[in-house]
Amino acid sequence: MGKPTGFMEYKRELPPDRSPLERINDWNEFHLHLPEEAQRTQGARCMDCGIPFCHTGLLLNGMASGCPINNLIPEWNDLIYRGRWKDAIARLLKTNNFPEFTGRVCPAPCEGSCTVGINDPQVTIKNNECTIIDRAFKEGWIVPNPPKKRTGKKVAVVGSGPSGLACADQLNKAGHLVTVFERADRIGGLLMYGIPNMKLDKGIVQRRVDLMKAEGINFLTNTEVGVNYPGDKLLKDFDAVVLCGGATNPRDLPVEGRKCNGVHFAMEFLRANTKSLLDSKLEDGNYISAKDKNVIIIGGGDTGTDCVATSIRHGCKNVVQFEIMPEPPKERQPSNPWPEWPKVLKVDYGQEEAIALYGKDPREYCITTKKMVSDDNGNVKEVHTVKVEWKKDDSGRFIPVEISGTEKVWAADLVLLAMGFLGPEETVLNSIGVEKDQRSNAKAEYGKFETNIKGVFTAGDMRRGQSLVVWAINEGRGAARECDKFLMGSTMLP
Ligand SMILES: Cc1cc2nc3c(=O)[nH]c(=O)nc-3n(C[C@H](O)[C@H](O)[C@H](O)COP(=O)(O)OP(=O)(O)OC[C@H]3O[C@@H](n4cnc5c(N)ncnc54)[C@H](O)[C@@H]3O)c2cc1C
Ligand code: SF4
Repeated sequence: MGKPTGFMEYKRELPPDRSPLERINDWNEFHLHLPEEAQRTQGARCMDCGIPFCHTGLLLNGMASGCPINNLIPEWNDLIYRGRWKDAIARLLKTNNFPEFTGRVCPAPCEGSCTVGINDPQVTIKNNECTIIDRAFKEGWIVPNPPKKRTGKKVAVVGSGPSGLACADQLNKAGHLVTVFERADRIGGLLMYGIPNMKLDKGIVQRRVDLMKAEGINFLTNTEVGVNYPGDKLLKDFDAVVLCGGATNPRDLPVEGRKCNGVHFAMEFLRANTKSLLDSKLEDGNYISAKDKNVIIIGGGDTGTDCVATSIRHGCKNVVQFEIMPEPPKERQPSNPWPEWPKVLKVDYGQEEAIALYGKDPREYCITTKKMVSDDNGNVKEVHTVKVEWKKDDSGRFIPVEISGTEKVWAADLVLLAMGFLGPEETVLNSIGVEKDQRSNAKAEYGKFETNIKGVFTAGDMRRGQSLVVWAINEGRGAARECDKFLMGSTMLP
């Protein structure tokens, strides 16, 4: 609970980020830490509100409200305030396998439902979490802790993103022998090859993987189940299987000119960039460069923002980010009350950097792409757009309606499509015979996680569609619990 009067005495304070104009010159993380005393003061702002919503993980209006993994937030805020860091990490690890990831990249639905936030700035929950785990690593408190006993059961986890890693970690703790299959050359899923290094340093992902290896988990890279490792062999070789392959099918934009050179899916751009950065500090040239280019990013979400920040670091000439939806309000609307997730305008790190560099937010709202035009060599040179307004159709649904006279032509040398994802790729599901739901995700009930095939479970984006790291951890833990129950008849896993 922190200090009962702390929220009245102290102001919310976050550590300063590195300045945008400095950090765009490298690929290092941009968040810094507060001094210990200042961080303890932030813990003191947790107000003993009686019924904390911050750790509920409820779905309100289709959005998460409170922490989806039910982190024991008031408890560790209190322990930070008292300087009991070792107890704080023990509490945090009860619910979260990887606070060093969520403490960096989680959008923090916990803060949207913090009671202090009703009429004052919320407690700095996410930053407190990050400080607890970073300190624990620094102090040497996080060491390999392999299980005392093995059960003799073998489990395959397919996919090494946060859901697969959380699942593997839990099953290993229960004593099973876990093998994680990953088709990429490095472990981590989108933690490794989606989220850019400046948001989540890849050394931090690798540090966790190394720890898990030392605890007895077996990792197989460059192994794609359904391609170079048959699905039926997997079913034969293991007592249970958990599919955590993510939802990596990108949404395309079927407009005229889509096939021009220089039009790519955002993930092609981001993945190649991180791989080249890790392999050779970008010296091998095996990435799509935005240098000196006019970059147009189609999609106003987080993936688009990562493309903005990456393009700026390449040295692009200009960057624009299109969003078909209207600009969100600056403050909560009456229709979006606390403790719902606040749907308000945010200036994320990529936009902050674009504003510092070009003097303007790169986002254009209520805009849709009509076509792309190439030069004589087939390279994209223009994107044609029109503005839209959102109106109700005959059935009462809001749809975008083009506004005539708002047509515009944008100079473009590189176009990145960041319009979300349509569900999992089918290879692994087909190779095992797993049924899909209406949204083309792997079909399994939330909470049970078992597919139509006995002993085959699924979790994370592969089951729920493209979501968040914190939900992937939630599902990985849940699938591990159900899998353990299936193998042993009962389970101690939460
Ligand atoms: C660019 C980008 C930025 C994002 N930023 C954030 C953020 O800041 N905060 C946040 O909370 N969320 C973010 N997300 C969402 C978040 O990364 C995902 O929700 C989360 O990673 C899902 O975890 P997962 O384990 O289900 O799947 P993934 O992380 O997608 O991992 C799936 C893994 O399975 C592997 N795989 C697939 N099929 C096979 C097969 N047949 N055999 C072997 N391996 C296979 C894939 O190669 C991949 O490594 C972002 C997403 C993207 C695309
Ligand atoms: S995991 Fe996310 S929602 Fe949960 S406490 Fe951490 S920042 Fe908040």
